[in-house]
Order: sequence, then C-alpha cells, then structure tokens
Amino acid sequence: MKKVVIIGAGGVGTVAAWKCAQNPEVFNEIVIASHNQKKCDAVAKSIGKDNISTDYVDADDVNSLVQLLKKHKPDMVMNLALPYQDLTIMDACLECGVNYLDTANYEPRDVAHFEYSWQWAYRDRFEKAGLTAILGCGFDPGVSGVYTAYAAKHHFSEIENLDIVDCNAGNHGKAFATNFNPEINIREITQKGRYYQDGKWIVTEPQEIHKTLNYPNIGPRESYLLYHEELESLVQNYPSIKRARFWMTFGQEYLTHLRVIQDIGMASIEPVLYEGHEIVPLQFLKAVLPNPKELGKNYHGETSIGCRISGKDKQGKPLTYYIYNNCSHEAAFKETGMQAVSYTTGVPAMTGAMMFLKGLWVKPGVHNVEEFDPDPFLDVLNHQGLPWHEIFNCNLEVD
Ligand code: NDP
Repeated sequence: MKKVVIIGAGGVGTVAAWKCAQNPEVFNEIVIASHNQKKCDAVAKSIGKDNISTDYVDADDVNSLVQLLKKHKPDMVMNLALPYQDLTIMDACLECGVNYLDTANYEPRDVAHFEYSWQWAYRDRFEKAGLTAILGCGFDPGVSGVYTAYAAKHHFSEIENLDIVDCNAGNHGKAFATNFNPEINIREITQKGRYYQDGKWIVTEPQEIHKTLNYPNIGPRESYLLYHEELESLVQNYPSIKRARFWMTFGQEYLTHLRVIQDIGMASIEPVLYEGHEIVPLQFLKAVLPNPKELGKNYHGETSIGCRISGKDKQGKPLTYYIYNNCSHEAAFKETGMQAVSYTTGVPAMTGAMMFLKGLWVKPGVHNVEEFDPDPFLDVLNHQGLPWHEIFNCNLEVD
C-alpha cells in the first residue's frame, strides 16, 4: 500500500490531489493536510473518492508536522504549501523517515531571496537516512529541468545555450490577479533579473531586458528576463552551458498594476504598524487580490512553457531544439476546477511522486529533477494532460 501526504490545499495542491486520485493503482491512499482543514475537506469532497482523507497541520511547526507524519506513516510528503515551509517539512521527514518532494525552493519569510543552498545542505542527512528528496517538481522549476535532461540524454553532446520560456496567454477577465500565491509571485517578479553567462551571473534591473518571442499556437508576446531558481541547478548539472536565461511574458496592463503596487509600497515585506497591529503590506495585498484558486471559471486561452536549446548534437554538429507544452485553461478547469498554472504545476508534482513510488526515481539524498531519468517522467506527462512537442533546427529567436 502506497500512501502520500499532500501538504497544502491551494490551486497546486488541489490539482495534485485530483491527479493522484486518478491513479489509484499507484496512490493507494491520499491525505490532504493544511492549517485550514476545511479547505482540505472541500477538495476531498469535490474529488469524492474513499481513499482520500484530510488532516490539520501547521507546516511552520516541526512538532505539528511530526505528529501528522507519525499518525499517517506515508511513503512520501508532497510539499505543496509555500516555500517558507520547505525546511520544517524536510526536518520532519528526516525525523519520521519519510521521502520528500516540493515545487519551489526555500525562501525565508523576511528576505525575498531564494536559492538551493539551504536545501542542498540536507544532502548528507537524507542520504544517510536512505531517503529521497526531489526538489522543484512543478513545471518551472520541474518539467523545464526534465526537458533539459531529455535533450542532453537524446539529442545533445553539449548544451551551450538554454533559454526557458514561459508564456501565459490566458485571460481571466480580472484587472489584476496572480496565477499562483500572490505573495510568492510578486516577491519573485519584483526582484532584480539575473542570468548566467560564461561562468558568471549577470544582474539586471527588474524587467530591464525584454524581447518579443513567438509561442506555438499563440503568436508574438513580449517576454521579460527574470531570475528563476532552476537556472542555479541546471548550470551546475550541465557544465557545458555557456548561457542560461529565463523569460516570462507579461502584458502591459499587468506591468502597470505591478508598478503602481510597488510605487505605493504595497509590495513591501517590511512590517508596518496599522491601527496598533503589525502588518506586512504584501500579505495584506494577498488578502484583497483574487484567489488564484478561484480564477479558473472564466479563464480562456493557453499557457506555453518550454526550453529553447542550442549546442552540438551527438555527432558534434550544431543543433537548435525547442521542446514545449501548451496547456488550455479551459481544459484544466474542466478536469480539476483549477486554471492552467495550477494544473501545469500539480500534474508534474503527481508525476514526480509516481516516479518515486514506482521505484523509478529512488535515489537517497537531495536531488533536482534533472538528476533523474527523464524518459519515464515524460512518458507519463503525455498521458496525464501535459503532452510535449519537439521542433528541431528552428529559429529559437533568443540570440
Ligand atoms: P496557495 O497559496 O494557493 O496554496 C498554499 C497552500 O498551503 C494553502 O492551502 C495554504 O493554506 C497552505 N499553507 C500555507 N501556509 C501553511 C502552513 N503554515 N501550514 C499548513 N498549510 C499552509 O499556493 P499555490 O497552490 O498557488 O502554490 C503552491 C506552491 O507551488 C507554492 O510553493 C508555489 O511557489 C509553488 N508553485 C510552483 C510552480 C512551479 O512551476 N514549480 C508554479 C506555481 C506555484 P491557506 O490558503 O489556508 O493559508
């Protein structure tokens, strides 16, 4: 009997729970837990399967997590809460002998800074305990790393340039909303940009570098260079990479709202005193913005996320290569009640857990997704709602 505990019942946790429930031969039992058990109950009720139960946990508190894991004794925890909770959940996994998976790297609450060093520091402890930790198993990070691993395994002898391109061409009809947790999302995109070139990291102003890229079935969209966490592990795992960048599309309307939010101080994570209480402006903003979980109903259009890669093929000849998925907001909503950004994160999280439970991605230690065999993972994505496509020797538009 294989059992997972999913921590978090937001958009991503909801999709992951749906997808685990669709694969009962792998996920025999599913527990959904968060600090608001009612939200977990609502997810379990909407799925309506007997093998799903719910529980309470405060994922900021190792003792609360240990109690949860001792009670349910799962094979794996799928951490789909927030990046702030990665380390407490990893600590509890070590204490209880449970394997671990997440979709975003650790970020301290009081500094908008994310890097893998905090979680890589757990490598020895997981290895000695014989436990596997799979880091960053959403779409980006996640499928972006698996696509790169697939390209390296099957097509390239040397990857030289890697551009991860993330387009959301959907329209939810709201003036301003974020597609995943607003606090985490705004912290990410208001940071300085950063990319890797010839062994060094080059820092840019936020949204300083942008260009128009064409996305399959979507067309041209203005794409902005951001720092994204998977670049850190990919340049280490593929040392032939000379340049690695990440691009995300934003509309003018979105950027104008974001600028105003920043200009008036609402993106700040410094606490302020309001009517005798300390509040964090960005956390307050999260409370008044649309909940990404509720965006799905009127969401139209598609996402398109992929890797544009150039380098030398297996024979040493120049090769350009584009591997991508397009995902429809409507189709994601029809299947799970969530929009495509939650869907494209929850499906890979389920797939990573499936890889582990089937014994295909078992490797004691703490690992990024590109360190595992990409083939069975990509095979599952083709059958679980995220089919992928390859184009060879095309104009990558990124030079
Ligand atoms: P949500 O905010 O919608 O969901 C987070 C869930 O965690 C909520 O159920 C929340 O409960 C719960 N939670 C928060 N704090 C605690 C706590 N201390 N103890 C227990 N439960 C807690 O976020 P999303 O679903 O949009 O995103 C989930 C994760 O996925 C995030 O880490 C995000 O960064 C990541 N992500 C990764 C992507 C990728 O491609 N790799 C893309 C998109 C997201 P409540 O709402 O009641 O506070």
